[in-house]
Amino acid sequence: MDYRRQYIRDLFASKAGTQASAYGWVKTRRDSKGVSFVQLSDGSCFQDLQVVIEANVVPEELLKKATTGACVCFEGEIVESPAAGQAVELKAKALTVFGEADPNQYPLQKKGASFEFLREIAHLRARGNTFGAVMRIRSLAAHAVHTFFQSRGFHYIQTPIITASDCEGAGEMFSVTTNLEVNEPLEGEHQGTRMQAYRLKSVSPKEDFFGKPAYLTVSGQLEAETFALGLTNVYTFGPTFRAENSSTSRHLAEFWMIEPEMAFCDLEGDMNLAEEFLKAVIGDILEFGAADLGFFNQRIEPELLKTLEHVVESPFERLTYTEAIKLLESSQVSFEYPVSWGVDLQSEHERWLTEVKIGRPVILTDYPAEIKAFYMRMNQDGKTVRAMDVLAPRIGEIIGGSQREERLEVLEERIKSAGLSLDPYWWYLDLRRFGSAPHSGFGLGFERLLMYVTGMKNIRDVIPYFRVPGSADF
Ligand code: ATP
Ligand code: MN
Repeated sequence: MDYRRQYIRDLFASKAGTQASAYGWVKTRRDSKGVSFVQLSDGSCFQDLQVVIEANVVPEELLKKATTGACVCFEGEIVESPAAGQAVELKAKALTVFGEADPNQYPLQKKGASFEFLREIAHLRARGNTFGAVMRIRSLAAHAVHTFFQSRGFHYIQTPIITASDCEGAGEMFSVTTNLEVNEPLEGEHQGTRMQAYRLKSVSPKEDFFGKPAYLTVSGQLEAETFALGLTNVYTFGPTFRAENSSTSRHLAEFWMIEPEMAFCDLEGDMNLAEEFLKAVIGDILEFGAADLGFFNQRIEPELLKTLEHVVESPFERLTYTEAIKLLESSQVSFEYPVSWGVDLQSEHERWLTEVKIGRPVILTDYPAEIKAFYMRMNQDGKTVRAMDVLAPRIGEIIGGSQREERLEVLEERIKSAGLSLDPYWWYLDLRRFGSAPHSGFGLGFERLLMYVTGMKNIRDVIPYFRVPGSADF
């Protein structure tokens, strides 16, 4: 057995009369009038291979073991299929059973298990239609991301996962420590009994592994900036961690982020890249993931293909935050969160703008400084910053980016007024001391992109294993 054998995907392309072996897992088996039909999947493509086992071809005792979930190999001949929906099927001549799956215990017996239930058996999700399709699209999308940047002269940078700086100052960080608090028994009363008192003892950060508090990164941006000011065009694509304390359908504690950073690039260039990027990646997925997308369009999100094609074809609208607020104020819609200049836009506002008012993706720019991060470049008005958010129909914000503040004094002021101390940012500030350059970049949550292109409604269903408050199973 070699990995360079034929997959089920390849068998669909082979001619009738070809001798073939089909390895995979049984989705279903149905027996009628001495003939058995097995739907076999190896995950290589969306479609299952139909295997027809005529009477007395395979010993009955053996065939009995080919139940839903069992791992098998059928050898036989590719024949034209009389059934609708497939050109060919496999006429079996021999069967090998690698691993049985007791029908009384195998959890994935029935079709149409709920996504909630599948999350409880996440180690078996890859065998189902939906999750298999999600994972193929995920892989394809990752490839499209690298292809996009690599073909445009961007260097792939792996920024650290453990960091000592809180990039956003948002305080949503996980600590990294070897310094677990220990329960120290107190001397005195009840000593040595169940009633003994204990005191929580912890060592100071100075004595901890890194000699200072350390965290899991919430963004690789600051480190990416240091590489852009040397390699010009860089991108990161890696795991990111946020201790989001609410459970929403759009937030994970561990997710993957894509962050390009470009020297000699202003906000205009940043927006152009973001638009080109979304169109290219979605375009690739439409082209190479058609079978899986067809499934999502049919079963998960009826307007999916239409919206994706629309995104690829239409130029994104560009508006300032101030213009968007005016549109929202004159909309006569009663939003749950009222709108006025200075508020952070909620997803209801973002969706109204892209879905109702504009009808295609919108890039909003020049947000109030107070609602954006300290590193965004201050405009001349002293009130707004060169930020841009890409809003897409059906989802709202999909990309957040900005031109970065490259002026040392302005940046120092911004860090201080964000209530942060300058010390941990000494290296970030050095970039502005030595050879500073105008530069820009953006961040895109990979799972948000996947939700968008698959139409899946819960972010937990587009990542192999999800980490959310109260749950880090598997
Ligand atoms: P949100 O308002 O949705 O919480 P954010 O403003 O915190 O997003 P940014 O800090 O701009 O997001 O992060 C960049 C991108 O990372 C977002 O546009 C989004 O796609 C993604 N993202 C942020 N937080 C999460 C999360 N907890 N889980 C998954 N993706 C996330
Ligand atoms: Mn957030």
